Amino acid sequence: MDNCIFCKIAAGEIPAVRVYEDEDILAFPDIQPQRPVHILVIPKRHIVSLAHVAATDEPILGRMLAVAHRIAADQGSQGGFRVIVNTGEIGGQEVMHLHMHIVGGPDPVGPMLKRRIGE
Ligand code: AMP
Ligand code: ZN
Repeated sequence: MDNCIFCKIAAGEIPAVRVYEDEDILAFPDIQPQRPVHILVIPKRHIVSLAHVAATDEPILGRMLAVAHRIAADQGSQGGFRVIVNTGEIGGQEVMHLHMHIVGGPDPVGPMLKRRIGE
């Protein structure tokens, strides 16, 4: 996909530290980390978001989750981690190439969301 920053990273046209890679997926550090461990996991193939997945994408989505623990532990978050997949405008997605954030410690990452219902 032209002008997609994550496609360019997958293709090696923009540098990134490839902390995990296989035939279908790639993981690299977020450029603006929000926790000591902050890794992005992407499918190498351009998929816009979780609102755009096809049945044929299911194995890749499964692998993205299946490798998360290994990536988090390798990067220094052995005691657990959180995955976040922002989707669309309501989800706050800024880069329109599906990506999974892995955020982690050493300290707990904190509340899941800032409560806005019934405050
Ligand atoms: P999201 O809001 O879920 O779309 O998050 C997009 C993420 O991509 C943000 O956390 C950015 O810091 C990150 N990001 C943007 N450009 C790059 C880049 N070239 N390399 C690594 N991470 C990036
Ligand atoms: Zn892309």
